[in-house]
Amino acid sequence: MPRINLLPQNISELIAAGEVVERPASVIKEAVENSIDANALHITVEINRGGITYMRVTDDGCGIESADVPTAFLRHATSKIQSVSDLESIATLGFRGEALAATASVSKVEMFTRPQGAEYGTHYEIEGGKEILFEETGCQEGTTLIIRDLFYNTPARMKFLKKDVSEGTAVLYVIERAALSHPEIAFKFIRDGKVCLQTSGDGELKSAIYSVLGREFSQSLIEVCSNQSGIKVEGFTCKPVFARASKAMQFVFLNGRLVISKTVSAACEQAYKNSAMVGKFPAFVLNLSVPYSTVDVNVHPAKTEVRFSDEKRIFDAVYSAVKSAIAQNDTRPVINTAKPSVSNRMSVAEYKQASVSFEEKPTFTAKQSTFNPVRLRENDSFVFQKPAVAEPSVKTEPPIPAKVAEKTVNTQTNETKEYSPESEVRFIGEAFLTYIIVERGESIFLIDKHAAHERILFNTLKESQNIEVQPLLTPVTVRLEAKQYMAINENAEILKKSGFETEDFGSGTVIVRAIPAMLKSEDVASVIEEAAESLLLRGSVQISEIDRIFHTVSCKAAIKAHNITAPEELLNLAKKVLSDRDIMYCPHGRPVAYEIRKKDLEKQFGRIQ
Ligand code: ADP
Ligand code: MG
Repeated sequence: MPRINLLPQNISELIAAGEVVERPASVIKEAVENSIDANALHITVEINRGGITYMRVTDDGCGIESADVPTAFLRHATSKIQSVSDLESIATLGFRGEALAATASVSKVEMFTRPQGAEYGTHYEIEGGKEILFEETGCQEGTTLIIRDLFYNTPARMKFLKKDVSEGTAVLYVIERAALSHPEIAFKFIRDGKVCLQTSGDGELKSAIYSVLGREFSQSLIEVCSNQSGIKVEGFTCKPVFARASKAMQFVFLNGRLVISKTVSAACEQAYKNSAMVGKFPAFVLNLSVPYSTVDVNVHPAKTEVRFSDEKRIFDAVYSAVKSAIAQNDTRPVINTAKPSVSNRMSVAEYKQASVSFEEKPTFTAKQSTFNPVRLRENDSFVFQKPAVAEPSVKTEPPIPAKVAEKTVNTQTNETKEYSPESEVRFIGEAFLTYIIVERGESIFLIDKHAAHERILFNTLKESQNIEVQPLLTPVTVRLEAKQYMAINENAEILKKSGFETEDFGSGTVIVRAIPAMLKSEDVASVIEEAAESLLLRGSVQISEIDRIFHTVSCKAAIKAHNITAPEELLNLAKKVLSDRDIMYCPHGRPVAYEIRKKDLEKQFGRIQ
């Protein structure tokens, strides 16, 4: 047996650091929380290269006494709690005394700090947990923390970092949340030399929302304000018509701390029942204030998970606060011929599903679907029973080889008929202004016209070397939310390859000079917003940026369900779908067509056994 040793301090620190410091955004979260705890009124965060090489957080808070500076970098060193009883009612964001130690153990840290009113400040440097410099200095009141070369001594962790852009965006999200939870603090975020977020610190939540989430979003809001049995619920929630496709715009703050709370989200969603569309999620920014002793924030090192001593009371308080806000303030939706003002975000789950179906072309098995998507002729069909003859050898075959003439057995006469798929597609009709119904050989096909068209356009975009571009006679300026704006500017090259010509016009606005020819020029603003959203989708899905843009363009350009489409056009679409094995799923992974076989119909009607 190997001998058991106590780990040297540097190793145990590195292990512990892993829990707190995962990426630049987690360092910034801790540093900003320290500044908030220090009662700062101005906090400036600056990063370069996604924060991996350089991060700086400057505040005008209380500062640290010279003698305490080295101590602050020790593990379990904190000024925020002293006794076990303090743990029961934590009023500060920090309390574990881990962040500075963890950060210093995996990077090169420099601190300038001067307590308010003190004559001198302190300059301190620590690298990989080792003190390098400790001297008196002249500096501003408050604290500046500089972090360089994160994970320089832990290459394994370095490998887990994403592209600079993604890390930088994760930092932006941290600052956004801090700014929303503390409207009384003026935040400034500088990324690679550019100011990309700034809040006024005027104490009004609405102005913080305006700066962080944009003008249009802030106009969609209803104020929530209630105080019941010691639970204060304040903030804003969206009018039901502005409910979104995902929960990306839900922010819950508990006593000034961003938390993830299923109880609160569920209560809020419940309050929208019967007013918002099914499958849509409300957007909200809610600040809950509860007595510190009724909540446990010490559940996880990142401190975003919380436990309430009485979940039901929280649920009820949030539910009734939101419900009555909606009842009092919701107005009838105004019909607006302009573009919709709130873009839908696809949830990470939806996007994952899309990417999986598109990238990996999964092989469905019979139990996954009672329907029979076109390629699955050999499995269970439609809602009928299993066909009498199973052909297991075909099960792993790729989609229906439609280009090859198919053999169909006429069950009545038992004669085999050959036909070419292109020529024999007969148009039967269209159901619900959505599904094309056609007959070919011994089968009927139901085809989703939007999904089919979208897929065909997507394939065209992917195959074409040079995408057809339509220059706009008058360039269009589009104002975007901060992160959409950055996503568009950072991906200008990719957008260009997909047929868009965009240019940074400064302060949240881009100029669009050209768009892909297949789009309508009225759609510019919404397509740019949607393109930005698709570029921003979080999660670990591996879809190239250009494919995301193609998704957006083809979805936008495709004919829509519920629009009237000429029968010839529908027939043409059906022919394309049935003759091309690449048109199985729309780019979002939904099936394009289902097949009903004559044989199965006949069995169902008792014509054959
Ligand atoms: P915690 O925040 O859990 O106490 P940290 O490791 O984050 O632990 O910080 C250790 C201590 O350093 C804090 O308790 C606080 O006293 C001091 N400190 C850290 N950052 C600041 C700051 N920006 N301004 C004033 N004091 C700070
Ligand atoms: Mg802290």
